[in-house]
Amino acid sequence: MSGSEPLLRVEGLEKYYESESDFIDRLLGRQKKVKAVDGVSFEINEGETLGLVGESGCGKSTIGRSILQLREPTAGSVYFKGQDITTLSDSELRDLRKEMQIIFQNPQSSLNPRLTVNDIIGEALDIHGIEGDVTRDARIKDLLERVGLNASHANRYPHEFSGGQLQRIGIARALAVDPDFIVCDEPVSALDVSVQAQILNLLEDLQDELGIAYLFIAHDLSVVEHIADEIAVMYLGKIAEIGTPEELFVPPQHPYTEALLSAIPEPDPLWEGDRILLEGSVPSPIDPPSGCKFHTRCPRVIPPSDYEFEQEEWRAVMSFRHRAREEDIAVETFGDDDDALTEALRDELDLPSSLTDPEAERVVEEALRSVADEEFAAAESVLRETFETPCTTDEPALRRTDAGRVACHLFDPAYESGPTDGTRTDDGAVTGDGAAASGDD
Ligand code: SF4
Repeated sequence: MSGSEPLLRVEGLEKYYESESDFIDRLLGRQKKVKAVDGVSFEINEGETLGLVGESGCGKSTIGRSILQLREPTAGSVYFKGQDITTLSDSELRDLRKEMQIIFQNPQSSLNPRLTVNDIIGEALDIHGIEGDVTRDARIKDLLERVGLNASHANRYPHEFSGGQLQRIGIARALAVDPDFIVCDEPVSALDVSVQAQILNLLEDLQDELGIAYLFIAHDLSVVEHIADEIAVMYLGKIAEIGTPEELFVPPQHPYTEALLSAIPEPDPLWEGDRILLEGSVPSPIDPPSGCKFHTRCPRVIPPSDYEFEQEEWRAVMSFRHRAREEDIAVETFGDDDDALTEALRDELDLPSSLTDPEAERVVEEALRSVADEEFAAAESVLRETFETPCTTDEPALRRTDAGRVACHLFDPAYESGPTDGTRTDDGAVTGDGAAASGDD
């Protein structure tokens, strides 16, 4: 490994699964792929921690398992100490697992209930043929004490321990083979808040003492805020923003990072605004939104340059368009009177009684009347064709800014004067109409 080579370098990692699409799609060879991880790159240096954060289903655990080759990546490379480990044979991978370990979210289910702690930790030593110059039992007792347990606990079974103690056993098992890198897959999510802090402190102390690097996966920014040297925020299989905690929080750049930060329950000095509530849920990775995958929920989605929109109005119009596409508006519950119906629809869709821009108002009114006639496709089409935004057509690339890297057109000078056909990324590639993600939303 050269002096400048990071311990771990992930390049363009992809993990796609076959979806369980219906019979006709399979017959016609139109089976869609679930893009769990869709072109992710990052680096982790020796003795450092990268926090990987996002809602459940964003692909963060799949990344952890793909790095360890527990799941075979669809594409991309994983360099560990300078070597691409995606090309290793099974026996080479077995040897490598001495250096790369994992700590699981749920210690109850990840520890064999029929084995004593001595056997659980000893198993890892046996599998990798590790003996050393001290006896096996002495090594296990040393590991137990290192993770804050008592050496006498070695002869007990998992059911005799609390959740926090079980996670300490999981950590001791991972440490048994002297790894240089550990994937910590939501290691504190299943624990009480008070115990979470103890486990985080333990992991930090072990890192200081042993120089281990961590990929620390969490769904809550507050968990990684203090432990991570760098944090990557993920949304639907892609990195939305990456930077040091200082770069990421002061102030956050990507609208998704803002929403995650505002959701931290206790008062946090890093976020002084109101809680940002995101509409809807994370879209399906089988048919993700085109352009920026966050555009169906983004509170700052870019308005069309030809119309005058208040930001909240524009968000409501975008949500209207999305719900028309999904045919997710129950028209029959609003009665038969046309005017009363469009008024009720406005209410349902959070649209004001009249939009700021009269021409935009005319178009939205036309779309509302189409929905009233249950012509959802016509409504979606008039909104899509009239109101253009780069957020739905161009996929934002991760772009370096003064504070880390962010994938959002708001931080791309190419979009300062409104929508364009394409934009240039850090590496000179052009994204745009032809580079948009799948889906036609
Ligand atoms: S590119 Fe558009 S939709 Fe995506 S995060 Fe930025 S403003 Fe929001």
